[in-house]
Amino acid sequence: MMFTDSAIEAEAERLLGSLMHVECDPKGRKWNLDTCREIAPLTLEINQLKKEKNAVILTHSYVEPEIVYGVGDFKGDSYFLSLKAQESRADIILFAGVVFMAETAKILSPEATVIVPDRGSGCSLADSITGADVRLMKSLYPDAAVVCYINSTAEVKAECDVCVTSGNVYDIVASLPQQRIVFVPDRLMADNIRNELRQRGVNKEIISSDGTCMVHEEFDVEQIKQARAQFPGLKVVSHPECTEEVAQASDFVGSTGAMMKYVKATPAPYFLMLTECGLVGRLEVEDPEKSFIGGCRLCPYMKLNSLEKIRDALRAPRPGQIVTLDENLRQSAARCIDRMFELTP
Ligand code: SF4
Repeated sequence: MMFTDSAIEAEAERLLGSLMHVECDPKGRKWNLDTCREIAPLTLEINQLKKEKNAVILTHSYVEPEIVYGVGDFKGDSYFLSLKAQESRADIILFAGVVFMAETAKILSPEATVIVPDRGSGCSLADSITGADVRLMKSLYPDAAVVCYINSTAEVKAECDVCVTSGNVYDIVASLPQQRIVFVPDRLMADNIRNELRQRGVNKEIISSDGTCMVHEEFDVEQIKQARAQFPGLKVVSHPECTEEVAQASDFVGSTGAMMKYVKATPAPYFLMLTECGLVGRLEVEDPEKSFIGGCRLCPYMKLNSLEKIRDALRAPRPGQIVTLDENLRQSAARCIDRMFELTP
């Protein structure tokens, strides 16, 4: 598509309004009018294609800022975006995130064509376990409730009783009648569930599989100690995919949505965000008064998304970019997610 110079200039100024605040850029870019002008034809074309094709773009907070603020219709964590997928009346849902998230959108919006820009955008957690592995755990613990974190494939969700997110996991697990819980796929989140439930006086046996998030498992307590010594008044914010030691040494632990709310509501001179760097970029845009001291990490899967791939997938998706699910499997996975919606306080 061709755009006039004035359309490109107006788009560059719109982009700059958000991107000028991003210092934690995954490619180290400095956003100014020139760099915004370079991407303006792409964002204009993508936004035009969305209108022509009745498409929406869901953007996870961990993808690059020019995607979130340039072409995203909704931005947030996987739970929020699942709700948006469910409410959507669009013919096409393009999920700028990773494959398991696009599968969740397809489970909840079966009539829509769901597109993932890069089929290689996996997840170390979701890819750590198969449906057959869950069936084996169920046979070993037949009295247990089987709970999966939303960071799991459709095949795994189809085998589980209820899905949870990092925002509702403690309340849902505590509310289940079974004393024994099989929790997949995150071993570190299972440790954090055990600790939280113990503090709440809830007695559950949690048996977990062995997956970890390759981003969040890397943070350690030494990093927190050094940062606190260097930056008095610092607040440490982490995700329950981190180790229990990191969680316990943090001032706040929560989902990406909860982390954003905490930072926005907390007056502090500095924040250490122990999560994916994309969230820091979002906070720099949405709360530019706050100071972040670095220390975040990049998820290589999330960074497989790009404006070029999004444009190409909207123009003419390749078969591998369209998410398809067996209908019986989809319905079983939908029951698992619906149970989460029922149990979410
Ligand atoms: S940040 Fe971790 S949990 Fe999220 S997609 Fe990347 S590997 Fe998976």
